[in-house]
Amino acid sequence: RAKKEGRGTYRFFEVAMSEEVRERRMIEHDLRLAIEKGEMAIAYQPQTRIGTQEITGFEALLRWNHPVRGDMSPAVFIPIAEESGIILRIGEWVLREACREASSWDRPLKIAVNVSALQVNNPTFVTLVQAILDESGLAPERLELEITESVLIRDPERALQTLTQLKAIGVSIAMDDFGTGYSSLSNLRNFPFDKIKIDRSFVRAIDVNIQAAAIVRAVLGLGRGLGLPVIAEGVETNGELAFLNAEGCREAQGYLFGQPAPIEMFRSVTHAEAVA
Ligand code: C2E
Ligand code: MG
Ligand code: MG
Ligand code: MG
Repeated sequence: RAKKEGRGTYRFFEVAMSEEVRERRMIEHDLRLAIEKGEMAIAYQPQTRIGTQEITGFEALLRWNHPVRGDMSPAVFIPIAEESGIILRIGEWVLREACREASSWDRPLKIAVNVSALQVNNPTFVTLVQAILDESGLAPERLELEITESVLIRDPERALQTLTQLKAIGVSIAMDDFGTGYSSLSNLRNFPFDKIKIDRSFVRAIDVNIQAAAIVRAVLGLGRGLGLPVIAEGVETNGELAFLNAEGCREAQGYLFGQPAPIEMFRSVTHAEAVA
């Protein structure tokens, strides 16, 4: 009997697996068409200077409105886009759209764009970034590329060369999701980062959770010691904000200041005069 149940479980597992594979294939297929079908959009989330509460820039976050499934989280489709290589085309689209959008603003705010390891490690990446800056007319100083440490893993020497070239054309580099994944302190010393983004998982409940508080305090100390500004991700409450402010964090991003939204929602920030 036990044996029979065991087999049943095994079969069920097999079916579930192939369904997951099928599901991924479908998403992959739909992803290939999503841009031309106009299903992709960019949501912009403000980055705010703690203290003055002024908006210093926006992070561009990709949104996909699937014709059947509706809004799909980037946490679901970005990994599939990365595995299938489709991220190269999608990532180029995001970069071009975000730079064109930012170049139309009256105020010289920063625009932060997430880029995947596959993009950064593509030999033509620096040329592509330069071309997009040229065609959009965006000042390179206004563009910040957000990369995670996964970019540095496969070929650290080439990654260093690429990041150095990006810095040379005037673009800045932020280390995203700091403290998660492959984090290594030596990455902060060996690569030319301009900013550290503390991952949301540490910011959550810093005002009530002593472990989270200790980690955030340490990252802020690290930033100070290395001369690197630190931005806190995922700030949702005034308690979290008060803690960050008291500990010397100067910049924050999170639902407390604004959810990612279509850029029109921020017209009074991006433009000098709102039009009626
Ligand atoms: P990320 O770059 O770390 O972006 C921050 C994520 O935290 C975003 O999720 C944002 O909506 C969310 N967030 C911001 N503030 C809060 C908050 O106060 N509370 C909570 N609960 N969440 C908050 P989103 O938009 O779902 O994106 C998830 C991830 O997908 C991003 O993490 C990034 O790794 C990736 N991603 C998004 N757009 C792109 C893109 O254009 N290219 C690439 N390569 N990756 C992207
Ligand atoms: Mg990011
Ligand atoms: Mg992040
Ligand atoms: Mg992330």
